[in-house]
Amino acid sequence: MLLMKDIILDGHPTLRQRAKEVNLPLSKEDLDTLRQMMDLVENSQNDEMVEKYKFRPSVGLAAPQINQSKKMFVMKTADENFKNLHKYAVVNPKIISFSEEKTYLSGGEGCLSVDEEITGLVERSKRIKARVNLVDLETGETTQVILKLNGFPGVVFQHEYDHLLGVLFVDKMKEYLPDIEPIEFGVNA
Ligand SMILES: [Zn+2]
Repeated sequence: MLLMKDIILDGHPTLRQRAKEVNLPLSKEDLDTLRQMMDLVENSQNDEMVEKYKFRPSVGLAAPQINQSKKMFVMKTADENFKNLHKYAVVNPKIISFSEEKTYLSGGEGCLSVDEEITGLVERSKRIKARVNLVDLETGETTQVILKLNGFPGVVFQHEYDHLLGVLFVDKMKEYLPDIEPIEFGVNA
């Protein structure tokens, strides 16, 4: 089981590398890693587990954050209206379009790899379209799909995607973002 101590922190060189493509079909090791990453995110959303293991609540985790420089990440979150669940294990994603329209999380972004005290406003595209290999964590099957994400889940996706490019939210953080409509949310990813 992955714990907070398995997550590397800003200053570690792996967080600054461009992650490498993952071989498909997915190896048993990579599938296991993705399962463990999803478990960590789910544990961090479970009060009992948070109490017991001191997880920081989070909605996503990218492989570089556990010191594996590979293009894969997991996310699990509802959208901002709490209508739909967005639970994805993603391999070799490529964002193929970013909307002109921007947004940001009014409560700021945070990151398990960055000190808890630091949160910041980050400009993101309101809508994105990405070509991804979605992994079924039960069977290990991967399916290439075009994922269209709007609002909050799209922001989470862009945060995780940045990890694969060696970019942290602190690199992009602003004091305030005038003239952009925010999403009323803050989060660790
Ligand atoms: Zn992060």
